[in-house]
Formats: sequence, structure tokens, C-alpha cells
Amino acid sequence: MEIIVQKYGGSSVADTEKLKIVCTHIIKEVKKGKKVVVVVSAQGKTTDKLIKEEQEITKNPCKREHDMLVSVGEQITIAKLSMLLKENGHDSISYLGWQVPIITDSNFGDANILEVGDEKILNSLASDKIVIVAGFQGIDKEYNITTLGRGGSDTTAIALADRLKAEKCEIFTDVDGVYAEDPNINKNAKKYDKISYDKMLEMANNGAKILHNKCVKLAKEKNVSIIVKSTFIEESTGTIVE
Ligand code: ADP
Ligand code: ASP
Ligand code: MG
Repeated sequence: MEIIVQKYGGSSVADTEKLKIVCTHIIKEVKKGKKVVVVVSAQGKTTDKLIKEEQEITKNPCKREHDMLVSVGEQITIAKLSMLLKENGHDSISYLGWQVPIITDSNFGDANILEVGDEKILNSLASDKIVIVAGFQGIDKEYNITTLGRGGSDTTAIALADRLKAEKCEIFTDVDGVYAEDPNINKNAKKYDKISYDKMLEMANNGAKILHNKCVKLAKEKNVSIIVKSTFIEESTGTIVE
């Protein structure tokens, strides 16, 4: 099976119109004969909104309940995207982290992935379903829901690409790749066609949120090359991180 993993961030799935654009990218790959696994984030600012609501209740939330709350945004996105794909004539199935399963340690709010199951996903792909996985979440060995840290859906995508031996891992976002500086702050920032893991890690550690730092570390460790590209620019060439 020629498997590819695509990840779409919050701004790429912010509303139904954007989800329709996401569908076109997925269907394009399906038509090429690829088996597609899609990782999605919560829509738009959903996670920020959940945290704001939590703050209205307590400034010192129980870490377990924090993860129980902030992980829910992704569940909405996976269900909607799966429905949209079916509406477009493509069979699809959505999975939460625990259903894959994505097993993590119990470091709530910043959990680390320990193991990723492949059986369920491979069976679904073999029966010609597009697989949609909720990013950012997992389950610990005591069956508690965990989250991987803000921006953690990037890490879910890399972990799946590694486990499934995907031929590529594309991270779709709202800019056309990795720039020397945030292109939304400096419009003249230079775009990289290619960047090393180490340079990318340095940028992620310095706060460039384009890729989650844990995702870059994992990609380097497992030698997964990443293509960062825009959901909204036709024929976006993006940046290869390898
Ligand atoms: P997503 O929701 O797709 O995960 P993020 O908001 O997490 O997207 O990351 C994309 C944003 O990262 C861009 O909109 C951009 O403003 C910001 N950014 C910061 N530094 C950089 C950089 N060096 N290159 C590209 N984008 C950057
Ligand atoms: N929804 C989560 C967040 O906002 C994860 C992600 O976007 O990658 O941090
Ligand atoms: Mg992000």
C-alpha cells in the first residue's frame, strides 16, 4: 500500500468552506491511487476557547480533567471531515487517539507518545477507506485521555507516518512553507525550499510555531521527511524538512 499522511491545522479546517478545500487535496491523492491518512486539529480557535472557558471555572485545573476538556475540539473536526468525504462519494472513517490507539505516558498537557497501533488503520485503508485521525491526543496506560502539548497535532502526524511507513508526510497550514522569520510579521522574509531538522528544531525551540518542536525531534529521530505547504495556495511548493 502506498500510504501518505496529511495533517491540516486549525486554520485549514476553520469552517465548512475550508473543510471542502481540504477534501479536494485528499481526493486528489486518492485519485492517484494513494491510501490517505489525515490528521486534523480543532477548528480555528476552538482549543483557545475551551481553555478560556476552563479559566472561568478554575485557575488551577486538575491536569487530567484539563486534557479531557481540551482534547474535544479535534473530535468535532474528524467527524465533520469524514462526513464531507462521504458526501463526496469517498468512504471514510474517523478515529480518536484512543481508538488508534496512540498510547502516551501520563504527563498530562505535554504527554509523550510511547506506542502507536497500526492494525485498525491498515485494515480501514485496505477496505478503501480514507482514515481521519484526531491530532493532539492519546491515551495513557490507565485509559486516561492525554494531550501532547499545544500544536501537538504535528507530532501525531509524524508518529503515524513513521508507524505506517508512509511515503510522505505533508503538513498543510496557512502559509506556503517555512520562512526565515514569521511571514505574517515580516512580509519580506525569505522562504526555504529545504531546511535541515536541526535548523528547524532551533527555530521551533525559539518559538516559531509553524512546527511543534516535539514533531521535529521525532521526525529527525525516525528520519521522516516533512513537507510543509499551504492549504490555500494552489500548487504550493512548500518547504521540505529533512
Ligand atoms: P496550524 O494551525 O496549521 O498548525 P500554526 O498557527 O500552528 O498553524 O502555524 C502556522 C503559523 O506559524 C503561520 O501562520 C505563521 O504566522 C507562523 N510562523 C511563525 N514562524 C514562522 C516561520 N518561520 N515560517 C512560517 N510560519 C511561521
Ligand atoms: N488543537 C490543538 C492546539 O490548538 C493542537 C493543534 O492545533 O495542533 O494546540
Ligand atoms: Mg500548529
